[in-house]
Amino acid sequence: MSAPESTNLDRRLVDRFGRVHNNLRISVTDRCNIRCFYCMPADNVQFMPRHELLSFEEIERVVRIGTTLGIDRVRLTGGEPLVRRELHRLVARLANVSGIVDIGLTTNAVLLGEQAQQLRDAGVKRLNISLDALDPEIFKRVTRRDSYDKVIEGIAAARAAGFSPIKINAVSVKGLTEDQIIPFAELARETDTEVRFIEFMPLDADSQWERDKVLLADEIMAMLQAEFGSLEPVPSANPNAPANDFQFADGRGKIGMIASVSQPFCSTCNRFRLTAEGKLRNCLFSHEEVDVRDLLRNGSPDEEVADAMVSSIAAKNAGHQINSAEFVQPDRPMYSIGG
Ligand code: SAM
Ligand code: SF4
Repeated sequence: MSAPESTNLDRRLVDRFGRVHNNLRISVTDRCNIRCFYCMPADNVQFMPRHELLSFEEIERVVRIGTTLGIDRVRLTGGEPLVRRELHRLVARLANVSGIVDIGLTTNAVLLGEQAQQLRDAGVKRLNISLDALDPEIFKRVTRRDSYDKVIEGIAAARAAGFSPIKINAVSVKGLTEDQIIPFAELARETDTEVRFIEFMPLDADSQWERDKVLLADEIMAMLQAEFGSLEPVPSANPNAPANDFQFADGRGKIGMIASVSQPFCSTCNRFRLTAEGKLRNCLFSHEEVDVRDLLRNGSPDEEVADAMVSSIAAKNAGHQINSAEFVQPDRPMYSIGG
């Protein structure tokens, strides 16, 4: 991983609000091997036909062009990225793109037991594992699948492969995961694990989201303080990080809050997205997309793909409107956008 050959600095991905975008989240598939209720429908999911998905070559080309506009970090996601065959080959290709300094991966860990080592060897630097419950029954209620043991196996394989610390992201839902908060905090205090609690966002496939189902960061903090005493904010090394980090007063363990609903962090957003079928999305909550797959497949020059990225960022809104009466949930649920 090194500097790109030429960076067109007068054409960086800066939006109308001065936010500089250097972070591309790439969905490699909309398929998934579990069915989290806050993301996917329970049954009859209509997945994209395979020929619609960008190939590894096409994804690599988008990333390479992105580096000339200042993209230097990518994160692979989905759907479940590990169900995309030979994912490590994509990682290795991206690790060779000059200008890319960081490759992250977000996974449910069901297939990590088989893939952790080859993904790390290929160049994944930052691994986020999504796990909402340490209790297998609650896990099953969230995911509608019986894969808890595979996830635990996957986490162990990630540790063995050298990912450290292990980062767990837990979506927190009222009436469902409250009694998982303290066990997760204990895990963070007792092992080399960072746990980040994410507020449930209106991106579910069944439009079941309600404000009352969001377990708020402040409520989680109150539970933690009641159990462990005060927590101290930890200054973040990265001003664009969505999580606010805290450490326990005795110095053992760190947890994070991703308060997307109650404390939006849109003003420091540096991220945009490429969907599995090649649409650029400037925000999870956007209602518009810019297609690049046609450009990639009809022989368009790199400059036109770069123009598509610039125009996607130029159209970005100041922030999501979840807390406004005018909020309209996007048509695409999380699994189909790429979280
Ligand atoms: N399948 C992978 C996984 O679960 O890690 C990657 C894709 S998933 C869409 C990415 C992240 O989005 C996961 O951490 C998941 O928990 C989170 N997510 C999905 N739907 C969400 C929602 N409605 N609100 C908050 N987070 C959500
Ligand atoms: Fe699959 Fe991830 Fe969505 Fe859960 S959150 S259904 S693991 S894509």
